Amino acid sequence: MTEKITNDVIARKLFLPDPEECYRIIRQTRWPEGVICPHCGSKEVQKNGHTPKGAQKYHCKNCGKYFNDLTGTIFDHHKLPINEVFYIIWSMPHKSTKLIAEELNRNYQAVLNFVHKVQKTAGNSKVRLEDVIEIDEVYPHAGSKGFKKESQTERQAQTWQGTAKFGKPPVVTLVVRNTGRVLFLLFENLREFPQKFKQRVGNLIVGGLKVFTDEYSIYDSLKKGLGSIIISHERINHSGKEFARGEVHVNTCENRHSFLRTYLRKYRGVSFRWLQGYLDFLALVLNNRGWFSELISARIHI
Ligand SMILES: [Zn+2]
Repeated sequence: MTEKITNDVIARKLFLPDPEECYRIIRQTRWPEGVICPHCGSKEVQKNGHTPKGAQKYHCKNCGKYFNDLTGTIFDHHKLPINEVFYIIWSMPHKSTKLIAEELNRNYQAVLNFVHKVQKTAGNSKVRLEDVIEIDEVYPHAGSKGFKKESQTERQAQTWQGTAKFGKPPVVTLVVRNTGRVLFLLFENLREFPQKFKQRVGNLIVGGLKVFTDEYSIYDSLKKGLGSIIISHERINHSGKEFARGEVHVNTCENRHSFLRTYLRKYRGVSFRWLQGYLDFLALVLNNRGWFSELISARIHI
């Protein structure tokens, strides 16, 4: 009897890469100048067989330790085959985890655990905040797991737009005007924005900043909070139907928000706990054409 050709059969038969090619890509990306011991940095290494999953093993003649193609990468100690984890990463920008798991015929939780690991690694990618910065906020739909439901009266008393409790947590978006790079910052509510902003982005700021925002009150204290780092703060009066005044606008943020909405729509609710990871992954994909190689060569704790 012939096998029924469904999407998952097609994905596995036609679109899974050759494992040996995956290992070659990892080696070329992380060691363009030849294999380096991830423990001590020495080039004095010798091939030493293969792991059961097919990765090349090495022995370092300098420190005496053993390692393989995947040591210290996001693939290390992961049970799924190398070509399937490549497929997962490649599919992440445009497919839900549920769909990827179905295509690979794998356990949803196993795929989700790997997705979270990739997202966490994406969060280590840094954006330099310099020169002109647009700042705007957006309230994506998200799950409200982990938050108590409040009564209707409490909800009405809520004067701040969007809180995680109601499944619409606020995300503050920063776009660096001259590089187009974006940073999404998730907050439980915007009351905490003025205190937490400096704490979250202080170490990313290079030189003085010219900041453009709308007239929303959370931005009132930006200059006070960041002091001399803010050279100027100009505001667009959206409620007065003003959308741009020369170079003063937040249109690039709005463009990134449309990517964010499309991206999150396919997940049908991400819990607050994991949402920052989804935002970090999207930011990496939007910011860096080489996002795939950045992820596969990212060095994580050994
Ligand atoms: Zn070594």
